[in-house]
Amino acid sequence: MLNETKELLKGFYELDDETFKLSEEVMEDIGDQFEEIKKVREYNQYKVLKAMQEARLSDNHFNWTTGYGYNDLGREKIEEIYANVFGAEDALVRPIIVNGTHALSLCIQGIVRPGDEILSVTGLPYDTLQGVIGIREEKGSLKEFGVTYDQVDFLEDGNVDLEGIKKKINEKTKLVMIQRSKGYAWRKSLTINDIKEAIDTVKSVNPNIIVMVDNCYGEFLDTKEPTEVGADVMAGSLIKNPGGGLALTGGYIAGKKELIELISYRLTSPGIGKECGLTFGTTRTVLQGFFMAPYVVSQAVMGAIFCARAFEKLGYDVLPKYNDIRSDIIQVVRLNNADEVIHFCQGVQAAAPVDSYVKPEPWAMPGYESEVIMAAGAFVQGSSIELSADAPIRAPYNVYFQGGVTFDHSKMGTLKAIQHMKKGK
Ligand SMILES: *Cc1c(COP(=O)(O)O)cnc(C)c1O
Repeated sequence: MLNETKELLKGFYELDDETFKLSEEVMEDIGDQFEEIKKVREYNQYKVLKAMQEARLSDNHFNWTTGYGYNDLGREKIEEIYANVFGAEDALVRPIIVNGTHALSLCIQGIVRPGDEILSVTGLPYDTLQGVIGIREEKGSLKEFGVTYDQVDFLEDGNVDLEGIKKKINEKTKLVMIQRSKGYAWRKSLTINDIKEAIDTVKSVNPNIIVMVDNCYGEFLDTKEPTEVGADVMAGSLIKNPGGGLALTGGYIAGKKELIELISYRLTSPGIGKECGLTFGTTRTVLQGFFMAPYVVSQAVMGAIFCARAFEKLGYDVLPKYNDIRSDIIQVVRLNNADEVIHFCQGVQAAAPVDSYVKPEPWAMPGYESEVIMAAGAFVQGSSIELSADAPIRAPYNVYFQGGVTFDHSKMGTLKAIQHMKKGK
């Protein structure tokens, strides 16, 4: 580290000697972990580059159309490139998909019909999807349309209950849901191999059951994506991993051609599907973000490892551990009480390039069950590939730390969180 950096950290950024020393020790501990991450990053970078070359991407794809949006060449290129990178037959990548929940909700609604059953094989789905399905009462949920739901919980060791899947599948089961990332839960994230095993199990009982993967936060953590190991369809958010921090908004859905068609009928309308829809000048940033994504994701993962090791050293329980295999960018730190959670998030906020002077407070966010606190000093509102931290204010006081389009910034987030927790005491 340069002396100038040291001065800045101890001066402007107000790190005390103890935190500074901790940071130096953590850097020494985690070096080996970075090597594996760089290898995955390099492969994925070349995979994305290859797809862009194969699609003959050109700057006329950065223009956009008006009105109905027929023949939007940029939109078509984006979807071709996404499908190629994810080893899928087709894709929908649109700014009018407002977030990950919307992308997943479209998938489910495009596929299931009244009388069908949805089976989640990774326990309770992400908070917002509970409302979509009707696990939590919500107007317009699929439950209102006569769609039923069942779930297979994780085994005690954190693995998917493959025998349980076989038992729960029945003649009504139409769609199996797999959530790759832990979301707001203290559980291991599924590796690509775990996902493959679960899919193989489902297909061994009935190959016609459609398997959907919630791939939020998982893109580019591995050399393969769920659609490359048998998932029929998957979805995610562009203000997470695949947007590379540059996409302004949007969601993607990738999978089998016939499913993408069905889903596109919910996105626009039956018969129209994916032929319409404006991109509002977003194609260049979506593509450049996708190009940057493997690198950006590697930075976020390194930042998560730094956070894990730092809090481990401070005596906190963390998930995953700094040297565990990772399948998403999320780092969970189990704090002791609501106060620590609030100070942690305020520290991350204080490290932000945008709104660093703002103090986040807990609030009742739509779609979430308990009050939530979010640190989000991002260039794109709510972007969680940019450095962010959030936590529902409920025991056992887990805080979820993720993102950082550069490792250095993510590291600063951890250091500021530690410093704020100390001051808050
Ligand atoms: C982020 C996320 C979603 C979707 O959330 P949005 O805020 O709607 O994008 C769904 N599932 C998981 C596991 C997630 O992490």
